[in-house]
Amino acid sequence: MKKILQDLSFEQLNELVSGLGAKPFRAKQLAEGLKKGKKISEINIDPALKQALTAEYEDEPVRVEKVLRSADGSEKYLFRLADGNIIEGVLMKYKYGNTQCVSTQVGCRMGCKFCASTLGGLVRNLTSGEILSQVYVVNAMHQNGRERGVTNIVLMGSGEPLDNFCEVSAFLKNVTAEDGINISARNISLSTCGIVPKIYELADLGIPVNLTISLHQTTDEGRRRTMPVANKYTIAEILGACSYYFEKTGRRYIFEYSLIAGENADKKHAEELIALLKGRPCHVNLIRLNEVKERSLKAAADAQAYKFAAVLEKGGISATVRRSVGADIGGACGQLRAGYLAQDD
Ligand code: SAH
Repeated sequence: MKKILQDLSFEQLNELVSGLGAKPFRAKQLAEGLKKGKKISEINIDPALKQALTAEYEDEPVRVEKVLRSADGSEKYLFRLADGNIIEGVLMKYKYGNTQCVSTQVGCRMGCKFCASTLGGLVRNLTSGEILSQVYVVNAMHQNGRERGVTNIVLMGSGEPLDNFCEVSAFLKNVTAEDGINISARNISLSTCGIVPKIYELADLGIPVNLTISLHQTTDEGRRRTMPVANKYTIAEILGACSYYFEKTGRRYIFEYSLIAGENADKKHAEELIALLKGRPCHVNLIRLNEVKERSLKAAADAQAYKFAAVLEKGGISATVRRSVGADIGGACGQLRAGYLAQDD
């Protein structure tokens, strides 16, 4: 694979362009073109510079392979990377803007029992430019007279962002840069299964994104049953890291809790969750489990989800049942890619 131009910050792009003997305004033209989701070969720059760049850099690191449109307005994408790997993404349309869900790895090695992204293990990390290009191409598809393009980003596609910390932090720097696409850190959420030391590093990065923890259980024992990462880090350690995150960023953190019938969705679990989280500057997002056909776990009924939320609220924990979007197009992480790969075989 060639190098990826979108990996570079604006300063690095400037250096590259001047190193190739081109005028500084070319770097600006180039950055503008990339931001619009264009291939290098499509950007209107000096032909000699274009040739020098395409010889060394991927012309199109992320290509939209397929778009599925849901009846609720959300869109799911299959992207093809330059090496042929497939990743997926979603754009969810809300009143306040368009939220894009990006992938950070091809596959995942975390092994959570309910998730489709991890079924084939980790294939490779994405580079920061491959993560950023997902945003560039989707933004370009939606930024027009009628729409505002991508306004919010969630790192909740396939992959564990904190298992690819270096590239993910470069992505966060470049996507929030003023001379780039300039999406505010407040509009970005990073979701992790709980890699504790990296939560501390994220807090120290100086980019105060919203931290989201995939908790899904109320005890370490329960967590170990469904999330192998729990063999390494306890809930107490995660909560300690969350407190540090709050101290450093002033941002309230969020817990994701997928309701699985017979596993974590009873009143007793809601009460345990209250005991665990009471007094913390946090919010709980209750998710209806998207049933994955390769897994046997079953979703809790809607009524049970609302009851669970009501118990939490009564116990002083702010909670919402997350509106489920795009279920008709393969909502849960990894489902679309898994289906696509299976159909390829
Ligand atoms: N690896 C990161 C981010 C990707 S997953 C993490 O673990 O947080 C985004 C969210 O979807 C996580 O909360 C994850 O636990 C949840 N998720 C995965 N598979 C799911 C499924 N089948 N149904 C509901 N939620 C699921």
